[in-house]
Amino acid sequence: MNLLARRCLPLVLLAAGASVAADTKPVLVIHGGAGVVRKEMTPELERDVEAALRRAIAAGRSALDAGKPALDGVTAAIVVLEDDPNFNAARGAVFTHEGRNELDASLMDGATRRAGAIAGVHTVRNPITLARAVMEQSPHVMLVGDGAEAFAKSVGIALVDPSYFRTERRWQQLQKALAEEKAGAASSDFETARHFGTVGAVALDRSGKLAAGTSTGGMTNKRWGRVGDSPIIGAGTWADAHCAVSATGWGEFYIRTAAAHSICARRALLREPLAKAAKAVINDEIPQLGGDGGAIALDRDGHIAMPFNTDGMFRAWLDRDGKTHVAIYADEVLAADP
Ligand code: ASP
Repeated sequence: MNLLARRCLPLVLLAAGASVAADTKPVLVIHGGAGVVRKEMTPELERDVEAALRRAIAAGRSALDAGKPALDGVTAAIVVLEDDPNFNAARGAVFTHEGRNELDASLMDGATRRAGAIAGVHTVRNPITLARAVMEQSPHVMLVGDGAEAFAKSVGIALVDPSYFRTERRWQQLQKALAEEKAGAASSDFETARHFGTVGAVALDRSGKLAAGTSTGGMTNKRWGRVGDSPIIGAGTWADAHCAVSATGWGEFYIRTAAAHSICARRALLREPLAKAAKAVINDEIPQLGGDGGAIALDRDGHIAMPFNTDGMFRAWLDRDGKTHVAIYADEVLAADP
């Protein structure tokens, strides 16, 4: 092979890869948190959650089927879950010690490694849209508190009165947490339920590109401006050209293990299959430190991993055959399309 041909070969291969990638079948995976306590679940809650997860998959899917970027699929799915009061994100978010809802969110575009994140906002109707605006309309990656609110106003993001986020169920969870704190005894089930219902999504689009996003109210009874892993790029959310992850669980441990990034790094550097990499971080590393939770992960080849070490993780996925699956507990898939 002459020098010119050798120099051109990578370009030819790249072009061939690009045309194969353009035919990629979209894949979308979503979660609604890993804080499921099985004995506290009711058939009504299971039904409502399943319906919401299906709506979120449908919203993300219509973006991906239309050939839109993975980021659009992720954003569309997360907006549906943020609007649903059953999840700990936006409407239905958990309460802080002082009885407020403080919301965190982030998202990342795998192909470009652009990212946006916000923390501690309390009037932004859909925090994931603000995280995206930070990525697309500011030179920054992360904005917090009043500054993030001011930025939201300046770019025309929908704002609501803070009472919009309130649900009675979450208010009662705070009362319980405050009572247990006063009595000096929090049950382990309740510890799990404290980080219940964060939402997230990872998507692979028709051009073979990945994205990830996560949105949460954090942990019940949080205070002092506590921020968990969800808005931290590399901890709760990560996407690169090969791998995308959204995490849910006891955020402090996800930050300490850089969980989302670790899964993708193990896959890339140790060449572990996605499932092995995700299991190592979620089922070994995090529990060894004393944490719990789960994650959803997706790679460029369409492999999916959804490990968790709690009773269950609300999750749904659109597979490469265009079928939607929904599951809550470890041992069952609630339903797949016929
Ligand atoms: N990871 C979130 C946090 O610690 C909570 C959750 O995933 O439910 O803020």
